[in-house]
Amino acid sequence: MASKTSSYLIIGAGVFGVSTAYTLIQKYPNASVTLVDRDAYDAESRVAASWDWNKVVRADYDDKVYCRLALEAQDIFKSDPLWQPHFHQTGVYWTCRSDYAQNVINHHKDLGRNDDIIALPVAEARKLYGGLFDSADYTGVKEILINRASGWAAAGDSLRAITKRCLELGVKYVVADVATLEFDGRGSCTGLKTKSGQILSATHTIVATGAFTPTLLEWSAAKSGNHGLRAGERIVAAGITTGMAQLKKEQYAKFKDMPVGFQGYTPEEGKPFIGTLPPTKDGELKWWGSKIFTNTREVLPGRHISSPPPTHDYNQWKVPGPLKQDIVEARNLWYGPQSANWEMTKHRICWDAFTTTSDFIISPHSASKGLYIATCGSFHGYKFFPVLGKYITQMLEGELEPELVEKWAWDRQRPDSSQNVEYPNSEMKHLLQPAAKL
Ligand SMILES: Cc1cc2nc3c(=O)[nH]c(=O)nc-3n(C[C@H](O)[C@H](O)[C@H](O)COP(=O)(O)OP(=O)(O)OC[C@H]3O[C@@H](n4cnc5c(N)ncnc54)[C@H](O)[C@@H]3O)c2cc1C
Repeated sequence: MASKTSSYLIIGAGVFGVSTAYTLIQKYPNASVTLVDRDAYDAESRVAASWDWNKVVRADYDDKVYCRLALEAQDIFKSDPLWQPHFHQTGVYWTCRSDYAQNVINHHKDLGRNDDIIALPVAEARKLYGGLFDSADYTGVKEILINRASGWAAAGDSLRAITKRCLELGVKYVVADVATLEFDGRGSCTGLKTKSGQILSATHTIVATGAFTPTLLEWSAAKSGNHGLRAGERIVAAGITTGMAQLKKEQYAKFKDMPVGFQGYTPEEGKPFIGTLPPTKDGELKWWGSKIFTNTREVLPGRHISSPPPTHDYNQWKVPGPLKQDIVEARNLWYGPQSANWEMTKHRICWDAFTTTSDFIISPHSASKGLYIATCGSFHGYKFFPVLGKYITQMLEGELEPELVEKWAWDRQRPDSSQNVEYPNSEMKHLLQPAAKL
């Protein structure tokens, strides 16, 4: 529970961490709230999954809980002057190969929403937006979900702006690489130690380190001898490749008013959702690939888990040829032959933390008092930026509604990942090897 003497150390300044800091400092203006991140909030390049040119902000979920929360977040994106400049209501065009569209529409009705959301037959939908998606992959598509209320947000810009607001309100920001969590003699968490040896202490330590979370917990388990700290099967670090193409002037004119596009595959097709976003103001068009990979490596002698590459920038800009090829294949699922000569300007590997169900973990850690986990965006966490802090603070204060306590618990029965198309489908090192000669 929070009290006058509570202090908060938040490790990780992505959307989970920053949203928490923003809620806490508004609720407790005199509290000590500190964000600790290896990258400065205004750095030119960051490893955070939350730091990106743009991210989809949609409320088109067939899971009713995330549908409700996404609508709540989207309302803030549309109305709050702090968030509003970053949101672009372009709509979403979603190819559905299951009953996804009808499920989403039913949820919106049940939640009393009157948004402009419809399902159209393929033949009708592909004529929309000047036939922009006429060359897309429609194999097995049942219908197209069009939600004109959804869109995208300038992710890096919003992260910087909200962090800056936190600092104005009194949050401290420490740039440091965290080496381990710190504990008292009874196993309670008392704070953290940085790689340079600095110790920071607080009554509440919140781990919001995204893809690095399992590694930090491994290091902390080894240091403290408390093996219950390890993430085990709960969290997996995984990467995906994004690519950006520079559109020429006339191409930009054609694509500038496009909606966000989603290819919705099912477990049978063995592909994740593949999305493409409207061009940035500089005319760069982004989409992502279909390979979602783990990177299993030895993070301590004898301890092998998936972890981003052990360099300061996770080697995120060193994208090998086979992953660039994945980007070419994904491009063709949207734009077909017209895109063959597009000039690729950027490739990035982006790392996030996953659970088998893609549910977040927002929970006290059961192996240590004073320690809390708030992460596992599972490739869909950004859009909840405006509301994550509210729910994480409710968790800290024991006020989270029972349904969310259960859904986001550290300890819970988790279904396996077989129905989760977003779950990692390969191991990074296997993707980098030339095809075997049989
Ligand atoms: C390619 C891609 C596309 C996506 N598209 C969308 C989308 O369109 N819409 C959407 O809603 N979501 C999307 N997501 C998901 C979303 O970006 C993530 O779920 C979300 O940003 C995760 O936030 P986070 O705060 O948990 O982690 P992060 O944003 O990764 O932040 C973690 C922070 O912890 C810091 N850190 C880690 N370890 C340490 C340490 N030891 N010491 C100090 N600091 C540390 C890192 O520097 C980082 O800043 C996408 C993800 C990816 C990868």
